[in-house]
Amino acid sequence: MRTPYVAGNWKMNLDRRRAFELAEALRNRAGDLSSVDVAVAPPFVYLELVAQTLGKSGVRVGSQDVCDRAEGAFTGEVSAAMVRDVGARFAIVGHSERRHVYGEDDALTNAKLRAALEGDLDVILCVGELLEERDAGRTEAVVREQLQGGLDGVTSEQMARVTVAYEPVWAIGTGRTASPEQASEVHLYLRGLLEGLYEARVADGVRIQYGGSVKPGNAAELLSAPGVDGALVGGAALTADDFMGIVDAAR
Ligand code: PEP
Repeated sequence: MRTPYVAGNWKMNLDRRRAFELAEALRNRAGDLSSVDVAVAPPFVYLELVAQTLGKSGVRVGSQDVCDRAEGAFTGEVSAAMVRDVGARFAIVGHSERRHVYGEDDALTNAKLRAALEGDLDVILCVGELLEERDAGRTEAVVREQLQGGLDGVTSEQMARVTVAYEPVWAIGTGRTASPEQASEVHLYLRGLLEGLYEARVADGVRIQYGGSVKPGNAAELLSAPGVDGALVGGAALTADDFMGIVDAAR
């Protein structure tokens, strides 16, 4: 049995005061987290504040991205060790905005994932197809390439620290969600791929989140779809009411 995992990606939103207030509201409302894992990924500059504010609430903190290198002359980058140092315990890699706005490919995503693991962070690896790829019948080929490319060289032991997020790009920030059937289909396909890459015990343990316009009103239906182990949430992670509504649906 995999514990559901709900993570909120704040993206480049909020300011210092609102990040603090949101963290405070989540801390006050987290309640019993014994049946669900909950995490948020604030902008780098608010990581420490949010981690300190969430304190011992059980809500984990992570970064939205991480550098593929450990240290050195990489202007503008932030290493896994640095985010860990200020309270982050995981990093998101391969988010569709990194892939499609900033042109990051599977090789770079894989290097970031491995740097995160080497820096003692857990990882959420995002995969997902564009609308034109879905329309061309290429969904499975796209997510296969992204999953296999992203996990290249990752050992069975390291997989205990990896979560996969299936995020169809056409459903991100658009208000349009995959149907529970569409989500299940891809989640079960991804599970099969993991079973091809790792022994059953390891593949079975990996959680696969769904992401793409998850809201309190559709969370219960999506979270109960076969193969869906949680949610990666963008827009609805920016208010405590919406985010906790989704967490409540996962409890
Ligand atoms: C995301 O960007 O990971 C995401 C799922 O965003 P939204 O929930 O806003 O669609």
